Amino acid sequence: MIDGSGNERAHPSKDPDNGRVRLLVVEDDEELRAVLVRGLREAGHAVDAAGTLAEADELCAYTDYALVVLDLGLPDGDGGSLARTLRAAGRARILMLTARDRLTEKVAGFEAGADDYLTKPFDFPELTMRVRALLRRPVTVGGAQLEAAEVRIDTAARKAWRSGVLTPLTTREFSLLAYLMERLGEAVPRTELLEQLWDMNYDGLSNVVDVHVGNLRRKLDLNAPGTVLNLETVRGVGYRMHIDTTAPED
Ligand code: CA
Repeated sequence: MIDGSGNERAHPSKDPDNGRVRLLVVEDDEELRAVLVRGLREAGHAVDAAGTLAEADELCAYTDYALVVLDLGLPDGDGGSLARTLRAAGRARILMLTARDRLTEKVAGFEAGADDYLTKPFDFPELTMRVRALLRRPVTVGGAQLEAAEVRIDTAARKAWRSGVLTPLTTREFSLLAYLMERLGEAVPRTELLEQLWDMNYDGLSNVVDVHVGNLRRKLDLNAPGTVLNLETVRGVGYRMHIDTTAPED
């Protein structure tokens, strides 16, 4: 496999970034691949690169990428087949890149499981903007599972994992976590949480939400250095869960 400069590199380990968001660029045009890798690294992401479907398949077998920037036309096949595989596994978000801008090709791309689509040539700021927008979305993993950076939940089984480790939560803690993950990126008012999850009217005194938020932060290690998923206090409003992808490279 190759990095953006075309040099050989070792297999990345299963979790080389301590939970940091890792991206994969699959593009056979060497120059464009180098530009994409450099630009996305400058935007604060950890990035691997592949020039063929075979290389991409190999990398995806070792690493759970948060997002794959995927060229549709590759020398050893159609990027759509990798999109379908990743989509079936339900892990990565997929941003499809292609020179073909006909509507039928776009439809085929979305049917293959692309989350977003960009036709070449494109402006780099538009690419980074779309990458950020996609990373802010939680990934639906199968029917009842939702994943945001380090945390995955199963809403049917009412279980939560932090970096793959099952984390015991109380019923209320789980409900609060699921509610905030489903509203990822939005400031959710404390009053709304009280009404929706505790069936209480806000009396201006209750700190029950704050206590549960504290428990979630502690149990899921949301304030640990290098953690990408944040549960932030929005002063005077409530709480916002969001993915902070601006963590600097080492
Ligand atoms: Ca190509």
